[in-house]
Amino acid sequence: MNIEKLAKVLEALPKYRVKQAKEAIFKNLIPDWNKASFLPLALRQELNEKCPLDIKAEALVSKNKDSVKARITLEDGLLIESVLMRHKDGRNTVCVSSQVGCPLGCGFCATGLAGFKRNLTPMEIVEQVIFFARYLKRGGKKVTNVTFMGMGEPFLNYDNVLKACRIINSKDKLGIGARNISISTAGIIEGIEKFAKEGTQINLAISLHAPNNELRSRLMPINKRYHLERVLDAVDSYIKKTKRQVMFEYLLIKDVNDTDANAKDLARIMRNPLYYVNLILYNPTMGNSFRPSTTERVKKFKEILKKNKIVFSQRFRFGQDIKAACGQFAGEKK
Ligand code: SAH
Ligand code: SF4
Repeated sequence: MNIEKLAKVLEALPKYRVKQAKEAIFKNLIPDWNKASFLPLALRQELNEKCPLDIKAEALVSKNKDSVKARITLEDGLLIESVLMRHKDGRNTVCVSSQVGCPLGCGFCATGLAGFKRNLTPMEIVEQVIFFARYLKRGGKKVTNVTFMGMGEPFLNYDNVLKACRIINSKDKLGIGARNISISTAGIIEGIEKFAKEGTQINLAISLHAPNNELRSRLMPINKRYHLERVLDAVDSYIKKTKRQVMFEYLLIKDVNDTDANAKDLARIMRNPLYYVNLILYNPTMGNSFRPSTTERVKKFKEILKKNKIVFSQRFRFGQDIKAACGQFAGEKK
C-alpha cells in the first residue's frame, strides 16, 4: 500500500473526487481501486499503478481464534509484525509496530535482540491498522483500540508516530477515539516531555520492569542514559499537565525482578494515585534464558502490591501458539 502520490494523481479532478477516494480507503476499506466503481475505469487503473492499496501480509490465526498475527512485507522488503487481539468484552485491539526492529536492545525482548533497521513512515504504521480493519470488516466488526506495543520504540520515531495517530484518530479517516489509543515507551524523556504538550487524550504507558536503577539498567540499557528518577519526574510533569492516568508495565521474570523486596520497592515508587501497574507474565522468547515467574510468586507479588494499596491489573496472554504476545515480535521469516 502506498498513497503518497494520491493527491498528485487526483490533482486535476474536482474536490469531491478526493473526498470519495479517501472514503474508499479509510471507510469502505477497499483493497483495490477496481472496487471504487464511482471512479472512471482509466483513473482506477492509474491509481492501482501509482497508489496501490494491497497490503502484502501473511496472517496467522491462533488456535482459539482470539488473536491474529500479521507479518507485513514493506515496500523495501523488510518485515514487520502486528497483532489483533479479540477481547471477550468486544474490544478489538491492534498492537502496532513503530520501527523495524528496535535500537534499545532490552535483553528480554525478541525485537530488541533482532537489532534496528529503520523507522516506519506514518502510513506504514496506519497500514497495520487498515489490514486488521479490512479483516474484521468481513465479519461485520471494527478495530476499537490501537496500542503501540509492537516492534520498536515509538518515541524514537516521535513525529511519524504522532502523524499516524492523527490519521488513526481523525473522524474522516479511521475514527478511533484518542482514549482508545496507547503509546508505550521504554522511557525516552524528551518524548514524554513533548507528548505532555500535545494536548491529546492518547494514553501513555511506561515500560518499567524494575523498581531500581541497578536492576533496570541490567534489563534495559536505556536506563543508564535515562535514570528511573528522571523518567518518573517526566511522568509526574506529564500528569500535572494532563491530569491523565499513566500505566506502568511490569514484566514478571522468574528470579530476576519478582522477589518480595522487588514488590515492596515497586509499591514504594508507585504511590501516585494516577499511576497504575500492569503486570505481564514474561513470554519466553528465543535468544535468552529468561522464564516467567511461577504462579505462586505472582500471587505473592500481587499480595504485596495490594497490601500497599497499589492499583494494578494483570495482562491477559494472547496467542502464545503464534508468538503473538508482547515482546515476541521478531519479524523473522519462518
Ligand atoms: N518499545 C516500547 C514499546 C514496544 S514493547 C516499550 O518497550 O515500551 C511493548 C511491551 O512488551 C513492553 O512493555 C515490553 O517491555 C514488553 N515485552 C518485551 N518483551 C517481552 C516478553 N518477552 N514478554 C512479555 N512482554 C515483553
Ligand atoms: Fe525496544 Fe521496547 Fe523491546 Fe526494549 S522492550 S527492545 S524498548 S521494543
